[in-house]
Amino acid sequence: NAKNRGRHTYCLFQAGMGDEVRQRRALEKDLNSALSDGQFDLYFQPRMSLASAEIVGYEALIRWNHPDRGLVSPGEFIPVAEASGQIIAIGKYVLAQALDIASSTILDANISINVSPVQFRDKDFVDDVRQAIDRSGVPAGRIELEITENTLIEDDARALSVLTRLKEIGVRIALDDFGVGYSSLSYLSRFPFDCIKIDRSFVSEAKRNYGSLAIIETVVRLGKALDMRIVAEGVEDADELCILAQRGCHEAQGYLIGRPMPTDSLARSIPEVVSAALENQNFGGLQV
Ligand code: C2E
Ligand code: MG
Ligand code: MG
Ligand code: MG
Repeated sequence: NAKNRGRHTYCLFQAGMGDEVRQRRALEKDLNSALSDGQFDLYFQPRMSLASAEIVGYEALIRWNHPDRGLVSPGEFIPVAEASGQIIAIGKYVLAQALDIASSTILDANISINVSPVQFRDKDFVDDVRQAIDRSGVPAGRIELEITENTLIEDDARALSVLTRLKEIGVRIALDDFGVGYSSLSYLSRFPFDCIKIDRSFVSEAKRNYGSLAIIETVVRLGKALDMRIVAEGVEDADELCILAQRGCHEAQGYLIGRPMPTDSLARSIPEVVSAALENQNFGGLQV
């Protein structure tokens, strides 16, 4: 509908736009058969506790194996699916598939599932979540739904009521990509989040930039005061890991700990380089 398309129309008059429109239409058309043809896959990325140095859960990340183009990234096709409404069916697939895998393969770990703002606003969303949980038999407390601030800005009274119903089911709620976008601090006290995920941009800047480090420290303190778990996204090296551990961040996720992988090659424990870094805490100080 026009509302969802609205944020993409601003660049209508840019050069090369004709190609982009054609490209999006082509993706949208191909998305129609992607579900029925089984072209989607779920990959899983581990999340580790910095206190115990153990994997505590996995985030499900969708992958599209396009018959001609090969792997198309979610960054490319999710916006198309959101504008067309196809994200509703895709989101249901992700829920069912992730919970199916959680009930069989990923024993004893939590599972995180990304939810699009368009999916979140669908009137059947809460019922879909409840049904998927009932069918899978996965305890609701092991499931975390990740939403972004975009989900909250349009109608926050309705968003609050949806989140409250989800909490009644027993699932956990995470605020993804925190710090980029609108980032109203009042969201943190107004909505029932269990977890804040600090955006990767702060993590990758933290060792060069006092501002990013200060933001991480502040979010960790704020999150703890509000009784929320703090997860850092996009940890790529041992320095970043040590900074986060020293600042009291609860959990970390990123290529250093594990890349998103298909279920048959999932890591159950953290790599040696990670445990060594946590033991030695060998971070030498800011490189400014
Ligand atoms: P996100 O939920 O914030 O997921 C984190 C993204 O960062 C993932 O990209 C992940 O592969 C990537 N990443 C993780 N660790 C690192 C790292 O150390 N370095 C770098 N450079 N990147 C890292 P991905 O899988 O391409 O997904 C991009 C976004 O697409 C996700 O961001 C999420 O917003 C969306 N998405 C992915 N799967 C789904 C899904 O099933 N449903 C919905 N609605 N959105 C999804
Ligand atoms: Mg996420
Ligand atoms: Mg994120
Ligand atoms: Mg993101």
